Amino acid sequence: MSAYREGDRTVVLIPARMSEAEEKRWVTVMLKKLAAQESKRVLGDAELAERAQRLSDQYFGGRARPASVRWVTNQNTRWGSCTPAEGSIRLSHRLQGMPEYVVDYVLCHELAHLLVPGHGPRFWRLLEAYPRTERARGYLEGVVAADRLPHGPGARDE
Ligand SMILES: [Zn+2]
Repeated sequence: MSAYREGDRTVVLIPARMSEAEEKRWVTVMLKKLAAQESKRVLGDAELAERAQRLSDQYFGGRARPASVRWVTNQNTRWGSCTPAEGSIRLSHRLQGMPEYVVDYVLCHELAHLLVPGHGPRFWRLLEAYPRTERARGYLEGVVAADRLPHGPGARDE
C-alpha cells in the first residue's frame, strides 16, 4: 500500500480485494501517514526567504524585497501578514502541509503588500501576475468552510 501526491491530487494505492469498510479504514490510515511525512518536510525559514525572493523575481520583477520571511504559530485567523516598514513577512504554520501553490500564493500576496498596501484594485492587478491566485484563494476558502462543518477537520471526533 502506498499514498502520494500528484499535483494537487492524492493517490492511495490499495489491493483490489479489500472490502469497502477496509478500504475506507486504510485510506484514512494512509492519508494520516502521508500528512505526518509532509509535516516533517516543512521549509525552513531560510528556504522560505529564498522562495519569496524567487517569487518576487518571477512575478514582481524583483521589486518586492522582504527583509525577513518566517513561520509563526500565533496566527490562526490570517494565513499571512506583513509589516511593510520592516519588510517582514510572516506565514501561519497552518499552511504547512498545504499544496505548494497555496503557500506560494500567500507569499505572493504578502510580497504584493510590500508594494501596495490594502486590497484595492491595484493590489489585485499586481497579484494577477501569479497564475494560480484564483485557485489558491478557492482552496483556502474551502479550508475555512471545512473548519466550520460539524465534522470538519476543526471538529473533535470523540
Ligand atoms: Zn492582504
